[in-house]
Amino acid sequence: MATENPNRPNYPLRPAATPFAAPQSTTPFGSMVGSEASAFRPPPPASSQSMTPPFPSGPFVGSEAPPFRPPPPGRSNELVRPPPPPSSSSSYGPPTAGFQRFPTPPLPSTGQVGPPRASLAGQPVIPPPTRPPGGPVSFLSQTQPASIPIGSPPQSIKTGQPNPNFPPPADQPFSAPRPNVQPSSPPMGPSYATARGNFQPAFPGYVNTQANSAAQAPYMQPASFPLQQGGYAPPAPPAPFLAQQRGYASGPPTTASSGLHFGNQMQHYGVGPPVGNSQGLAEDFSSLSLGSVPGSFDTGLDVASLPRPLDGDVEPTSFAEMYPLNCNPSFLRLTTSGLPNSQSLASKWHLPLGAVVCPLAEAPVGEEVPVVNFATTGIVRCRRCRTYVNPYVTFTDNGRKWRCNICSLLNDVQSDYFAHVDASGRRVDLDQRPELTKGSVEFIAPAEYMVRPPMPPLYFFLIDVSISAVKSGMLEVMAQTIKSCLDNLPGYPRTQIGFITYDSTIHFYNMKSSLMQPQMMVVSDLDDIFVPLPDDLLVNLSESRNVVEAFLDSLPLMFQDNMNVESAFGPALKAAFMVMSQLGGKMLIFQNTLPSLGVGRLRLRGDDIKVYGTDKEHTLRVPEDPFYKQMAADFTKYQIAVNVYAFSDKYTDIASLGTLAKYTGGQVYYYPSFQSSIHKDKLRHELARDLTRETAWEAVMRIRCGKGVRFTSYHGNFMLRSTDLLALPAVDCDKAYAAQLSLEETLLTTQTVYFQVALLYTSSSGERRIRVHTAAAPVVAELGEMYRLADTGAIVSLFSRLAIEKTLSYKLEDARNAIQLRIVKALREYRNLFSVQHRLSGRMIYPESLKFLPLYGLALFKSTPLRGGYADAQLDERCAAGYTMMALPVKKLLKLLYPNLVRVDDSLVKTGEFDNITKRLPLTAESLDTRGLYIFDNGFRFVVWFGRLISPDIARNLIGEDFGGDYSKVTLTPRDNEQSRKLMKILNKFRESDPSYFQLCHIVRQGEQPREGFFLLTNLIEDQIGGANGYADWILQLHRQVQQNA
Ligand SMILES: [Zn+2]
Repeated sequence: MATENPNRPNYPLRPAATPFAAPQSTTPFGSMVGSEASAFRPPPPASSQSMTPPFPSGPFVGSEAPPFRPPPPGRSNELVRPPPPPSSSSSYGPPTAGFQRFPTPPLPSTGQVGPPRASLAGQPVIPPPTRPPGGPVSFLSQTQPASIPIGSPPQSIKTGQPNPNFPPPADQPFSAPRPNVQPSSPPMGPSYATARGNFQPAFPGYVNTQANSAAQAPYMQPASFPLQQGGYAPPAPPAPFLAQQRGYASGPPTTASSGLHFGNQMQHYGVGPPVGNSQGLAEDFSSLSLGSVPGSFDTGLDVASLPRPLDGDVEPTSFAEMYPLNCNPSFLRLTTSGLPNSQSLASKWHLPLGAVVCPLAEAPVGEEVPVVNFATTGIVRCRRCRTYVNPYVTFTDNGRKWRCNICSLLNDVQSDYFAHVDASGRRVDLDQRPELTKGSVEFIAPAEYMVRPPMPPLYFFLIDVSISAVKSGMLEVMAQTIKSCLDNLPGYPRTQIGFITYDSTIHFYNMKSSLMQPQMMVVSDLDDIFVPLPDDLLVNLSESRNVVEAFLDSLPLMFQDNMNVESAFGPALKAAFMVMSQLGGKMLIFQNTLPSLGVGRLRLRGDDIKVYGTDKEHTLRVPEDPFYKQMAADFTKYQIAVNVYAFSDKYTDIASLGTLAKYTGGQVYYYPSFQSSIHKDKLRHELARDLTRETAWEAVMRIRCGKGVRFTSYHGNFMLRSTDLLALPAVDCDKAYAAQLSLEETLLTTQTVYFQVALLYTSSSGERRIRVHTAAAPVVAELGEMYRLADTGAIVSLFSRLAIEKTLSYKLEDARNAIQLRIVKALREYRNLFSVQHRLSGRMIYPESLKFLPLYGLALFKSTPLRGGYADAQLDERCAAGYTMMALPVKKLLKLLYPNLVRVDDSLVKTGEFDNITKRLPLTAESLDTRGLYIFDNGFRFVVWFGRLISPDIARNLIGEDFGGDYSKVTLTPRDNEQSRKLMKILNKFRESDPSYFQLCHIVRQGEQPREGFFLLTNLIEDQIGGANGYADWILQLHRQVQQNA
């Protein structure tokens, strides 16, 4: 999350030896711009008669499941319908001279999956691996460059006729036909009210005249895709779905027209009038005395009494007790589980209203998500709103009907799902039905949830081999790590793998299994990228294992004398896209320098400090060249997730590179000034986790919610495929997404609102699955209840994302102020509820549930993406931290904001096991004793702080005779003594509890500057740092602002 080198200059210049390439035309896509984007054409049917459903690259989306039915021509009045099979005419856009149309569908013969049927329910289909024998037909033959035996220095081969053809996967991610809206069911009869124990009718008096918001398919929202304005691609129709209804004639097949929306909307809330009604409110507030207290600071504030989250994140339980059937909060947390019943109440809630979702969170022990296979029954879903059957549906009519908890529709129970209900309305087979008793469940998806056979896990590596990548040791560590993970890549024996390396040229590797050694092919024409030998660049790992290992063994040697300083990153990226676009998968980019050649080259920005503090400041935090956003959109469309590993000791424009991860559901790993001698363990661990953690492929996610509320914005690393469908080419347990809610109606008449998260994905084993999390939350009529049920962790998560997004359009200060204002308004509103009747004018009062909110707010303002001004964090560091924080699950985010600080010297000296090391200390220098040894842990790094007067014995035992020397040159290694073993054990224990990142251990001695300041003191967020408040001053400032106009 931060540079490992405190001495690193701020904006070092590119070495003089690396002149920028001569300015060229800024045509971003080289030969593939504008109308040529039609090179990404869907394949025409093999024959127009036998054409079965197209097999788009995307999973079946829309409502996630409906059977595929190509619409009959001539009917266009349905909201959303699947597209017709691509016709062989050129309705996708003008044909481009010189581009050959690819004649075969990109995936195995369509017959393998079968033609569409009205209903495929009940056919569990686990299709064979998607790679047809002999490999996919792809990349029409072209002039092949001569291959070079591996080990030779890369040389330039000017090839004959570039041919950028590659098989374009059919482009139809939105094909799910929505079920027709059914006539409304009759109002609930008396039988319903008693149907299920003490279950309250959820929608009293609700007449079903309106479908759930998802079923209403408000797809006409104009795409917010900014590329439309750039002259970069043909303007996309504002309503892609309408265009689809009209037979696909009008939309150019650019990504922009595919309805992908970038998910970076920012909500600005209006503020309701302060209201002082305190009737009947829960009075469980807390207060802080701000009067003069003996022994306190001059300010009159007793610092020791300030609330601190020293137990870490504690998930609220009041809500879980109320709804024991809810999914575990590690999957879904609401900012308040008391949902306001009216717009006016919502307007008094100045905090975010919404949810944080981590669909693949590692389930707590004993709460593993059960897998349900409906086999012949088909997955049971509401026929109107497509909600999945869950513990909150109710069975009526002797078990013959079930009522949807989201939209209240009464559905028929299929005969093969029928079970009798007992007198209390419980199905007699309940104990064999996890889907009716668990808040989280995973369904095996039958064939209609697929638009193509499930893809194999695919890992593609795009590797910088320029001089700095070699000299830093990155190349060697990376190659060794990948090799060591080959046995553990998910998906054996289907896993696919491939590599491209690049400096000023692009190097392809033929990995065909019959070879002894990989063959390298060098392409130097950066303006007209083509892919040589397309069939053998991406290979089955188990078949080509020997070649892959030979390649990884020789990679560092091949380039050990490489003096090339250039980086043709953009062209290499395009080449990798061409190779991967048939199947999708994960692309791992290892970038060591600023892209300098070809499309997507970047310029040195950020060294112009005149920009800071002006209205242009934010432009440094967003990509300058639309190339990156456009590539990200294309990647997402073709199910490619991008993880960026960046290593440079100089500016590399993480703002631009990170865009690739941001919009593809990926992740940014940043190792500034990487040196293998220092950072290799961190890279090894994090790369290994990235490669081996369980991954959900080609996923889409939707969150449904009950009538009257609606998700209005989404925040995290993903791209929106429609108004409420998140496209996630790859997802894992380390990714969370946030969303904001709003009320659609002035008054909610229900007592409960239900939420259902559905993630449709392909497992590494090749199964199509749907993970479903369901939760209920009460509707409340009082602001005090909303506060009582508030979840600080979820609120801070949303605030962080909103603030980071705001820094992309505004000054850092504006982003901070916006959050501060909302905290002040919230506290003021709360104060108005209580202050008069309790005569608390001199005290700061706040709800117990939000007691840590001010501190987390302060921590957020001091976090890397938001802190200070230009000098307070390097630009790349800020951007990298921003990308990381946008994806963090709640617990990890809170730990990053308020890290653990523990004292350990007593534990090391004491005999026996250590027990008290979990006692966390306030994050202030006051906590540090000059005789002590402390560990600071924010989840991303450890800092071990040696007090100046620490016992020399301890110091010697831990770091040897160097304990008096320069700590920047000392590393903590296991030593043969009890204290060293104990410390290592403690550190390992901390690491095991938080395996998402590797915590590199930095040791620092008290008073050693600038290292102590950099590694520790600036992260003691309760202290005044630079111009930023300390905790006590911050509370006083908030208190004053709350009192103004109170
Ligand atoms: Zn429904």
